[in-house]
Amino acid sequence: MRATRLLIHLDRLRRNIGAIRNRIGSVPEICLPVKADAYGHGAPRIAQAALEAGVSRLAVAAVSEGAELRREGIEAPILLLSLPAPEELGEAVELGLIPLVNDREFAGQIARAARQAGKRLPVHLKIDTGMGRLGCRPNEAVELAAFIAAQDSLEYAGTATHLAVSDDPAEASRRYTGDQLTRFRESLEAIRGAGLDPGVVHAANSGAILLHPGAWFNMVRPGLLIYGYSPIPPEAPIPKEAPIPVEPVMELRTRVACVKRFYRGESVSYGRTWIAPEDTFIAVLPVGYGDGLPRSLSGNFSVLIRDAFYPLAGRICMDQCMVNLGPEPAVTRWDEVTVFGGAAPGADAPASILNTIPYEITCNMNKRLPRVYPLHT
Ligand SMILES: *Cc1c(COP(=O)(O)O)cnc(C)c1O
Repeated sequence: MRATRLLIHLDRLRRNIGAIRNRIGSVPEICLPVKADAYGHGAPRIAQAALEAGVSRLAVAAVSEGAELRREGIEAPILLLSLPAPEELGEAVELGLIPLVNDREFAGQIARAARQAGKRLPVHLKIDTGMGRLGCRPNEAVELAAFIAAQDSLEYAGTATHLAVSDDPAEASRRYTGDQLTRFRESLEAIRGAGLDPGVVHAANSGAILLHPGAWFNMVRPGLLIYGYSPIPPEAPIPKEAPIPVEPVMELRTRVACVKRFYRGESVSYGRTWIAPEDTFIAVLPVGYGDGLPRSLSGNFSVLIRDAFYPLAGRICMDQCMVNLGPEPAVTRWDEVTVFGGAAPGADAPASILNTIPYEITCNMNKRLPRVYPLHT
């Protein structure tokens, strides 16, 4: 196997799910979003492990992601969070994906596709209470719910919304989330008032698990927390709520391919941005931006080898990068290197250096990295 690989710690995944389960108490269901290949972790194995650990549903963004899970033998209910293209509707129905319905036109199309397949397809109504993305307006919810319920080929099985700032403990954001939840509750009441059952009601992403118990209803949809990170930005005010102890599931590992002596004044990598300030040793690591290690970490980041952190030297290349071991290296060829996760800080460390979020770091891990699932780590 290639020296560079992703270790996916399923034991940590299970513990993270347990920690969330502890927090949400009697909320009946957890739905795990496994979109974007389970945030880069490898959707089939993550899905399987999560289902064994008490998650009851999965969610994907693309029909092709649902197809992969079904091919791998996963039979659990799968929500389809994004809108499929018209030519994908037949496949979505065939796979039994549960679409989130936004408008009458889509409801009509999916009803027709289900009828053609001779199926009665469960669908969820999506209400836009302030995310500003998919979903009907709250004042359209009753009419759309009634339209769905009136279709023989559809089963009105759930009602959802999505929160825009649930991960921000600042007062203004808490108020905004409160307003979203009020609009959602009013819509639910109107739906019930019209004699319809809104089915499984869900709104909470990771932020709402941490900060908004009022958003839990009867199913929650945490992604990031289950993969081991808090969605609360590091620069945000400290929340008054207790944190949930979660551990990063993904670990990026490589091994030292080569150790070389460098003399003062010699340069490393493209652009000659790093010049040895003294005689030193450089290790070449077989990992680069072609694996998903962001090039903008060049000169900005350290990796763990044995028990010490060593800084990157020079630009990250597509397939390789270099670290400065200093004049008396305690590192030898083929030593294990942890880039993030495991015994090193998680993907939130490079994310905060780059002013982005851990989601983006883990999602960008390239397909050429083997995902390895250690049994007892
Ligand atoms: C991705 C997604 C989630 C999960 O969000 P996290 O911030 O990872 O918890 C929940 N709901 C919807 C609709 C999503 O698209």
